[in-house]
Amino acid sequence: MGEKLHVRLICLAILAAGLPFAAWNDFVEQTNRQFYDLLLSLRAPAGGRAPAVLLAVDDQTLARYGPLPFSRAALARGLGVLAGFEPRVVGIDLLLAEAGRTEEDAALAAGLARFPKLVLAAALSGDSPRAGWIWPLDHLAGRASIGHVHAAPDEDGVVRSVLLEKQGGGRRAWAFGLECARLYLGAGAPVEERASLLLSGLRIPARRDESRRLLVNYAGPEGVFRRVSFRSLLEGQADPADFRDRIVIVGVTAQGAGDRLFTPLSSGGLGMSGIEIHANVVRTVLEGAFLGPLGAPAEIPGYLAVAGAAVALAKRLRGLKLASALAALMLALPSASYAALRAGSVWPLASLLAVFVWAAGVALAAEYGIAAAALRREERRRQEYAFRVQAMAHEIKTPLTAIQGSSEMIADASVPEPARAEIAGLIHKESKRLTGLVETFLNVERISAGSLALEKQPVDLAALCAEVLERARLYAARKRTAIQAEVPPAAILADPELLSFAVYNLLTNAVKYSPKQSTVRLEVRAGAGGGVLISVTDSGQGIEPAEQKRIFERFYRGKQAAEPGTGLGLALVKEIAVQHGGRVEVDSKPGAGSRFTLVLPAGD
Ligand code: ADP
Repeated sequence: MGEKLHVRLICLAILAAGLPFAAWNDFVEQTNRQFYDLLLSLRAPAGGRAPAVLLAVDDQTLARYGPLPFSRAALARGLGVLAGFEPRVVGIDLLLAEAGRTEEDAALAAGLARFPKLVLAAALSGDSPRAGWIWPLDHLAGRASIGHVHAAPDEDGVVRSVLLEKQGGGRRAWAFGLECARLYLGAGAPVEERASLLLSGLRIPARRDESRRLLVNYAGPEGVFRRVSFRSLLEGQADPADFRDRIVIVGVTAQGAGDRLFTPLSSGGLGMSGIEIHANVVRTVLEGAFLGPLGAPAEIPGYLAVAGAAVALAKRLRGLKLASALAALMLALPSASYAALRAGSVWPLASLLAVFVWAAGVALAAEYGIAAAALRREERRRQEYAFRVQAMAHEIKTPLTAIQGSSEMIADASVPEPARAEIAGLIHKESKRLTGLVETFLNVERISAGSLALEKQPVDLAALCAEVLERARLYAARKRTAIQAEVPPAAILADPELLSFAVYNLLTNAVKYSPKQSTVRLEVRAGAGGGVLISVTDSGQGIEPAEQKRIFERFYRGKQAAEPGTGLGLALVKEIAVQHGGRVEVDSKPGAGSRFTLVLPAGD
C-alpha cells in the first residue's frame, strides 16, 4: 500500500510537470487553431437576411469596364444608381488615395457626397510602427468615416481575427467593418473601456492588451452574404430591395485582384474576398456574436478536470471498460468544444486532448507498473511459500526416517532386549515429535481460518505461567539457560491451553535464539483497561528490522535461524493474540536481544 502510494505520488509529479508542455507547445497551439477552424466550419451557414450586402467589382465588371484600378467614372455612375436605392450605410473598400482625372474625381466626389453614412478605406503602407497611412483624398472623403482594411492573419496565415484599431503615422483608424456597423447603429465613435470597447451600449470584447483583436464569427463560407455584381448595377439589373436600408460594401472580388485571404472557412484553396470578411466583421458586431477564448481562470481548472478524469478512469476501470470510457471522453471533448463554440467560447481543444492523452498515458503507466509489481511480489511470495512447505516436509521426514530405521531394527530378532526397549523409546519420542509438528501446523491453519473456537475462561496467570515455566525450564536446561520470572497475581479471560502454547513458544524461541548460559526473562504486567502484557526478553542474536514483520508469517524462518524449526511458532502466537482481541509486539536489536510482548485485553 505504502509503495503504491509512493509510485502514485511520483507519477502525479511527472504528470503535473509535463502538463504545461502538453497544453502549450507550438504544435498543439497550431492544432488548436486547426480544430477551431474545423469546428467553425462544421456549423451550418447563418441564415436570414444579413444587414450587409456586397456590391462586387467582379470579373464580369472588370471585363466590361476595364482593368484595375477600377474606373472612377464607372464607380461614380454606380454610386449614383445606388443612391436611388437608399442604402443605410455605404462602405467602399477601394483605396482612393491618389488623384485621378479631375472631371472623374469631381463626379466621384459628388457621388460619394450623396451618402451621409459613408465609410472609406485606409491602409497602412507597411508593418513598421512608423508606416504611414494610405488615406483617402480629402476632397473625395469629405465627411466620410475612414476604416482600416487590414486583416490580422495568425502565424499560419489564416485570418481568424481583425484588429479593431490600428495606429500609425500619428493617426488611428477603427476597422472598416466596425465603422460600417457603427454608422448602421447610428452610434458615435466607439468608447474605449479598459477591457473592451463600447458601441452605443454594445460591449465588444476587444481588449486593448490584445491589440483590440476581434475573432470574426464567420457566418459561413464565401457566398453567404447577398452579392450583386457592380456591372449589373450599372446595367440597371440590380434589385433596389437588395440594398434598401442595408450596409452596402463595395469592393473587388475579381479572382486576379489578389485581395483574397485565407480564413477558417476558405475552401478549395481559394481565399475569401476582403469585402466578405468585412461583412463578417459587421455581422459579428451587430449580432453581438462574439467569440472569446476561455481565459486562464477557466482554462487551467479545465485542464485539471480533464487530467483528473483520465487519472480517475485509469485507476478505477480495466480492460474494455477502460478503453471505452477513455474513448468516450476523447469524443466528448470535441463535442463539448463544439457546443462551447456555438455559445461563443473558444476552447483550446488540442490542448485539452493533449492534456487528456498525457494524463491517461502517465496514469496507465502507473497502474500498469503497480499491477506488475504486485504480480511480481505475489509470485515471490508463492515461491517462498513453496520453499517453506518443502522445508516443513523435510522437518517431518527427519523423524519419519528415524522411525523407519528403528522399526526395521526392532524387527530384527538378533537385537538384544535392552536395545529393543531403547529403540522403542526412540520410536515413541520421534513419533511424538512428529505429532507435535503436525499438530502445530494444523493449529495454525485452523486458528487462522477461525475454525478453532476459543474456550475462554478466567485464567490465573501466575498459575498458568508457573506450569509453562516448568516445561520451558526443562527445555532450557540443555543450553543451561536460566529463566527468570516476574509474575504478579493477575487474571484475565482467555483460552488457557492456547495461551500456554503462546507463552511456551515465546520462551523456547528466546532460549533457542540465545547463546548458551544466558538468561531469559518472563514478565507479566498490568495493561490498559484490565488487560495484561506478557513479555519475554532475551539477550540473544536479535532480529534484523526488515525481518521483524515477516517472522510472523507462516513458515517464515529467519535468515540467521541456525536451530531447527518450522517457522510456524510465531505465526501461531500471533493468531492466538489476535483471536484474543490482542496483538504481539516485537522489539529487537540485532546482536543485542529481543523482547516479544503479548498485549492481551481483559477479555470480557
Ligand atoms: P522457528 O523458530 O521454527 O523458525 P518461529 O515462527 O517461532 O519459527 O520464528 C520465526 C523466526 O523468527 C525464527 O526462524 C527466527 O529467525 C526468528 N525468531 C523468533 N524468536 C526469536 C528470538 N527470540 N530471537 C531471535 N530471533 C527469533
